[in-house]
Amino acid sequence: MTRVRLLIFNPVLNVLDYRLPDGMATDIGSVVLAPLGPRQVLGIVWETERLPGADVPDARLRPILEVLPVPPFPAPLRRLIEWTADYYCAPMNAVARMALGSMAALRGGGTTTEYRLSGLEPKRLTPQRAAAMDALHGEQASIRELAELASVSEGVLRGMVGAGLLDPVTVDLDRPYPRANPLHAAPDLSADQQAVADRFVSAITAEGFTPFLLDGVTGSGKTECYFEAVAEAIRLGRQVLVLLPEIALTENFLRRFEARFGVPPVLWHSSLKQSERRRAWRAIVSGHAQVVVGARSALFMPFAWLGLIVVDEAHEVSFKQDDGVRYNARDVAVIRARFERIPVILASATPALESLQLAEAGVYEKIDLPARFGGAELPAIEILDLREQPPQRGQWLAPRLIDEMQDRLARGEQSLLFLNRRGYAPLTLCRHCGYRFQCPNCSAWLVEHRLSRRLACHHCGHETPVPGECPECHTPECLVACGPGVERIADEVAQVLPDARIALVTSDTLNSPEKIGTFVAAAEGKAIDVIIGTQLVTKGYHFPELTLVGVVDADMGLEGGDLRAGERTYQQIAQVAGRAGRGEKPGTVLIQTRHPEAAVIAALAAGDRDAFYAAEAEARRDAGAPPFGRWAAIIVSSEDEAEAREAARAIGGARPNLPDVMVLGPAPAPMAQLRGRYRYRLLINARRSAQVQYVIRDWLGGLNFPPGVRVAVDIDPYSFV
Ligand code: ADP
Ligand code: ZN
Repeated sequence: MTRVRLLIFNPVLNVLDYRLPDGMATDIGSVVLAPLGPRQVLGIVWETERLPGADVPDARLRPILEVLPVPPFPAPLRRLIEWTADYYCAPMNAVARMALGSMAALRGGGTTTEYRLSGLEPKRLTPQRAAAMDALHGEQASIRELAELASVSEGVLRGMVGAGLLDPVTVDLDRPYPRANPLHAAPDLSADQQAVADRFVSAITAEGFTPFLLDGVTGSGKTECYFEAVAEAIRLGRQVLVLLPEIALTENFLRRFEARFGVPPVLWHSSLKQSERRRAWRAIVSGHAQVVVGARSALFMPFAWLGLIVVDEAHEVSFKQDDGVRYNARDVAVIRARFERIPVILASATPALESLQLAEAGVYEKIDLPARFGGAELPAIEILDLREQPPQRGQWLAPRLIDEMQDRLARGEQSLLFLNRRGYAPLTLCRHCGYRFQCPNCSAWLVEHRLSRRLACHHCGHETPVPGECPECHTPECLVACGPGVERIADEVAQVLPDARIALVTSDTLNSPEKIGTFVAAAEGKAIDVIIGTQLVTKGYHFPELTLVGVVDADMGLEGGDLRAGERTYQQIAQVAGRAGRGEKPGTVLIQTRHPEAAVIAALAAGDRDAFYAAEAEARRDAGAPPFGRWAAIIVSSEDEAEAREAARAIGGARPNLPDVMVLGPAPAPMAQLRGRYRYRLLINARRSAQVQYVIRDWLGGLNFPPGVRVAVDIDPYSFV
């Protein structure tokens, strides 16, 4: 009898032994169905034969039911799953789940039915059908997805199918993607770029683990260079994974990729529709998908024949996942490359201190692109001290910045204002009694969104219409907005530059590929004079007529005082500054601040990146912070305040007593309430040599908590709320 140990997809259990029925064949890594109680679960064959520690006698083992028709998970991926679970103190099946497609994708290819408007336009329609007709223009998807898109019930849409308003379309799930052509439009690289590209290409050909840190100023052509590595991998018939920090950036990437290779790459992200998800997953597993671009969730895909991983804008914090498995996709990408024995390229104009440190230590091979392509100069950076040049009362832009914008408008050039805050104002209060609007579920103020006339929580999504009176003292028309968000800045620009055509760029306004496409076309076609945006506009875009960047509030990011506040501020401002003067006309950057003496601001003004990183490294060394020491956080939460506090106290009481591990807390987390849960936090600061994960597992493993308590471990945390 063959005994197999399955990694099973069940929230409580992780691995369980089964029996392989006669005549059934599996490999290690095969995806199977197995019985669990009265139900069936998915599992992955993890080990076979005689297993140590197998405590269930052979006779009691239940048989595996079925082997699913997909290739087994290859060894490097299984190792990656084990490593990630180990390192981030996460259940192995939670990690493995990220590699799995939908049940339907596992069942095989075939066809599915989608629906689209038939073109029939009856004279009379129910309001719901009319709304659906409007919303579904140009869409094709399953009934469920269309219902979601149109905000109507599935019943309404089924009725429309019956009435001939929606037509069924048969979709082949395994229809092939068009092939990328590495020779389609190869650029003429500059000598610097060519040297970089050659180094990448030789690493691809060598087929070994080579981690690169591509450190190149904004506009130096980092993308063009790593595209040559992509081209080489395609030539060799190997697959490529490109990770981008957010989906908003993919639109731009898709266009550039298509221009270079003749066809778009395969997209992977969480909001793909079902049939596209299935198609992409199956093409990745079969090896047919050549180049896959996605957000961090694409990292665990079971590629058949991976040859290269690129992490673009590798310093971005959104590579860190802050719920579920709390992993850092940048770091895990390097581990995956090691297990797959392939090159990995981390590209950035402002690398993370951790990455620079690893390059310095010789772990990463550092590749520099110190100059902009085509002779474009880096923009001149100037500080606007708001204490000396204050904006007018109730406004946020200093006169000097307004003058410069006026000047750009007169010359037909573009300006960009950066403020990393969505909405109109971050705080709303009652002029009469001082009442402040707070989220009922979170320790956070509600942010006014004037365009949608709502107050919204940016943490849990809670929304409420802006009331006409104060809910506390009932005085009518007494609410005042405090502080600026981008919508408020847009109002101010409309006032001071009444002729300017303004584009507001935030995740509220640019929330679909179509809208992003429209924006880019308008900006490139000079139909926009002033762009006002959040961090969404800081990277990726290349608008040659953009010659002025204004940073509305450089001090904002420094307030929270979190470990990486200085670094993040530096990166954001350097990135947004990098949007200026990318064409033939030189760029200017004006940074509004009340703290020109702060190390970050001074370094930006002096263009002295090395000095900034050196000072930052010193400070981190003193604090025992990464990359010199290690941090971990334990977040305890419950809907019941007392229960959360009790559990945190129990964890605190059981703290390990070790010379190289220091435990701070428990204390209420800075975000003491989040999504209706009360939160306590313990912070662990350890020497690099300490086995933190081992210590934490040992420590928490001996404790039991009531079912309402959640204990989350965050290794190398980025968020300190
Ligand atoms: P980075 O990613 O380093 O900011 P990009 O790769 O976006 O730089 O390049 C900046 C701009 O310069 C892009 O519009 C790109 O198409 C252009 N560019 C860079 N290198 C070349 C080249 N060798 N030939 C033509 N255009 C180039
Ligand atoms: Zn909230």
